[in-house]
Amino acid sequence: MVISMRGDATEDQIQGVIKRLSELKLDAHRSTGLNRTIIGAIGDVSAVDTRDFELLEGVDEVIRISAPYKLASRQFKPDNTEIVVKNVVIGSREVVIAAGPCSVESREQIEKIAATVAASGAKILRGGAFKPRTSPYSFQGLEEEGLKLMRQAADKHGLAVVSEVMDASQIDAMLDYVDIMQVGARNMQNFTLLKRLSKVDRPVLIKRGLSATIEELLMSAEYVISGGNRKVILCERGIRTFETYTRNTMDICAIPIVHKLSHLPIWADPSHGTGIRDKVLPMGRAAIAAGADGLIVEVHHDPAHALSDGAQSLYPEQFDELMRELNIIARAIGRSIGDIS
Ligand code: PEP
Ligand code: MN
Repeated sequence: MVISMRGDATEDQIQGVIKRLSELKLDAHRSTGLNRTIIGAIGDVSAVDTRDFELLEGVDEVIRISAPYKLASRQFKPDNTEIVVKNVVIGSREVVIAAGPCSVESREQIEKIAATVAASGAKILRGGAFKPRTSPYSFQGLEEEGLKLMRQAADKHGLAVVSEVMDASQIDAMLDYVDIMQVGARNMQNFTLLKRLSKVDRPVLIKRGLSATIEELLMSAEYVISGGNRKVILCERGIRTFETYTRNTMDICAIPIVHKLSHLPIWADPSHGTGIRDKVLPMGRAAIAAGADGLIVEVHHDPAHALSDGAQSLYPEQFDELMRELNIIARAIGRSIGDIS
């Protein structure tokens, strides 16, 4: 952290800043230029609130140099984090695709969809059993019964399972069925939930909040890693902007930014990222071209009758087409996508 003093700052004001740093057990490195004094804070500044220094007399500007997330940063760990889930390695050269319905609705539904996404090359079955719905009157999910049905369908087709955990009280039940714990966009800053997941031996997929910055997303990852769980996957799923043509605005640029700032794998969700079926293929292609380590995509055999998010769910044939296109894109950028030819 660097504190730049105003040109007219007095010696007393400079000493005031140095004293405050030493109270926080930080050393001060002072350099006096022609027009102003700059004070470098040396030590662990991760818990410092820069505003406390901005408010001190004579201070012009406070600039944080090191990121507030340490364990999630690439500075701390230069090599990519690879996470093994069943027979895939997330964050490796292989692009991993999770696909399935928004919600698990019935045995027949999840079985049908698992069969089709597996045949197209998906390695992970997605599906919500605990659903975060905007309206309390909308379908809320089949809960534990849904998890059971999903696990059975996934096992039958050699798939792993990713599903959303909405509350810490659901974690124990989920551990019996789920390979990746999904933290939804609305829960990205549920710090109690993140802390509990940091104690669990299961990868955690953290979706970017509706109005979260990339730094806030990385801070959520930091919660999980600092508590002891290093298996974190991030996910860009669109953010809320002034645009109204799409449900969310998919921030494709977040993908290379996260790769630069962090060693963690990042996925993209073109289904929630756009909210409209015919935009899912182009944005899915774009995300992989931008370097995403995987996608999580909604697919339904009968989207018109889906209990949630039918409008953004792909038909099985569309998903198959997407997988073929992704295969070409992945190869063009030196990656692979499982065993699709
Ligand atoms: C989901 O993936 O089912 C979901 C609800 O996504 P998000 O949390 O990104 O809205
Ligand atoms: Mn959905």
